[in-house]
Amino acid sequence: MPLIDAELQKILVCPCPHHAELSVDEEAAQLRCEHCHLGFAVRDGIPIMMLEEAIAGSDFEAEKCGAPEAVQAAVRKPE
Ligand SMILES: [Zn+2]
Repeated sequence: MPLIDAELQKILVCPCPHHAELSVDEEAAQLRCEHCHLGFAVRDGIPIMMLEEAIAGSDFEAEKCGAPEAVQAAVRKPE
């Protein structure tokens, strides 16, 4: 079973100012922005598309993200 519905994935974009497309990371159960590399958890097939809930990938680039600093501070860093 796919992480999320393919039709749903098609219409979703990253909430970062670039609204970039998302790729599916099945292993991490996340959608990942192809521009800023933020990850968004998927719970029961529902992606949590909020910058405040985003998970920064190891290759997250704050400058590329372009989100306000307050939002970036809330982004969770990988452990
Ligand atoms: Zn993004």
